[in-house]
Amino acid sequence: MDLNESPEHRAYRARVRAWFEQHRPGSLDTFEDRRAWHRTLYDAGFVGMGWPKAYGGQDASPIEQAIVGEEMVRAQVPGTINALGIGFIGPTLIAHGTEAQKQRYVKKILTAEELWCQLYSEPGSGSDLASLKTTAVRDGDHYVVNGQKVWSSQAYNADYAILLARTDPTAPKHKGISYFILDMRAPGVDVRRLKQITGSSEFCEEFLTDVRIPVENRIGEEGQGWELAQTTLGFERGGNLLARVTAHKLTINRLIEVCKTLPRNGGVAIDDPLVRQKIGKMLAEVEVLRYAGLRLLSKLEKGQRPGPESSVDKLYYSEMDKRHQELILEILGPFGQLFEGGPPEVALNLRSTREDEGSWAYNYLWSRAGTIYSGSSEIQKNIIGERVLKLPREPRADRMARA
Ligand SMILES: Cc1cc2nc3c(=O)[nH]c(=O)nc-3n(C[C@H](O)[C@H](O)[C@H](O)COP(=O)(O)OP(=O)(O)OC[C@H]3O[C@@H](n4cnc5c(N)ncnc54)[C@H](O)[C@@H]3O)c2cc1C
Repeated sequence: MDLNESPEHRAYRARVRAWFEQHRPGSLDTFEDRRAWHRTLYDAGFVGMGWPKAYGGQDASPIEQAIVGEEMVRAQVPGTINALGIGFIGPTLIAHGTEAQKQRYVKKILTAEELWCQLYSEPGSGSDLASLKTTAVRDGDHYVVNGQKVWSSQAYNADYAILLARTDPTAPKHKGISYFILDMRAPGVDVRRLKQITGSSEFCEEFLTDVRIPVENRIGEEGQGWELAQTTLGFERGGNLLARVTAHKLTINRLIEVCKTLPRNGGVAIDDPLVRQKIGKMLAEVEVLRYAGLRLLSKLEKGQRPGPESSVDKLYYSEMDKRHQELILEILGPFGQLFEGGPPEVALNLRSTREDEGSWAYNYLWSRAGTIYSGSSEIQKNIIGERVLKLPREPRADRMARA
């Protein structure tokens, strides 16, 4: 891949940058303000860019998508809402849904008229998701669903969910699972919010009691749920690496600004050789991520899908973020611990792309999540060992019982 941007892509970037400069939103205080901003982004063609035109997308190239992602972060404007719907539920529906399902749901995901969440995890079935226990029993032209789900991001304001449930308890655990569209307002769906370490409550747990799902809301065939879930997780782990690089660089640039006035040893922190070494290490690691992002982009541009090696990227960026947030708090000392009320000259002071982000302390606490969601670091290491390096599979009790 030529690492220099082509003249066409440079011109495209300039147009996108100018658009963000001209359309910078005012303060977005309510969720409806965020929804209106999302609609503006959609009307500009910046949401679901890679999706087919037939379903409301732009058929845009991976490079154009990456440019918009980077410029959105650079402009420090809030991003889209309906993150799960746009990140992977829409693409899964496009890949596996019936034409009727695509016509009914896909466009409204893009416009954020309908918000979506993902009901996969259960208490006791996270990493070992195939052991899930929620059941869906066929009753005429419906399935009757019972069970409990947990850690469902944004479920408190979702209209619909993708749901994994066991339709055949006698089949081997990966085989008896089916994939459904669940109306979150259906009778028997009880959604409760959970408090996180950051103080915010993005997660929910759901108790499903005799919830009736029409058969036409099953995606794919009965028992095909695991296969479909793999598609979804593939989209989820791909991530937008270059937008992450831009976000990290903005944060480090802000840290450098802060260090120019932050008192340290009778001078300022930026003159402390240890502080400079730590910042240098962070910048070098971000550069590694940039090359990983370019490698992935090059693959996507050639029409290839990211394979199991995307686990290397996921492991790297999530562990890197955790290291960086720790280093930043070390450098900032007590100021880094403040959620609010600190002197403005040491505040993170970036216009947040998340609703409740904005302080260094919040970013530190949130960085723990990256090494857990979409498959924890330990699980990524197993995937790298087994599927990339072709090492022997890890001994597991359930596999040994089958042998
Ligand atoms: C920010 C965030 C958002 C999320 N959003 C959603 C969502 O929208 N919908 C949803 O369904 N879920 C969601 N999740 C849940 C997430 O998918 C699970 O937390 C994740 O799969 C890990 O499962 P667990 O929490 O049950 O941990 P466990 O599976 O119980 O693991 C506990 C520890 O044991 C380790 N471990 C487990 N098995 C192995 C093994 N075989 N080898 C080595 N180590 C192992 C794990 O790595 C981990 O460190 C979210 C989680 C987070 C943090």
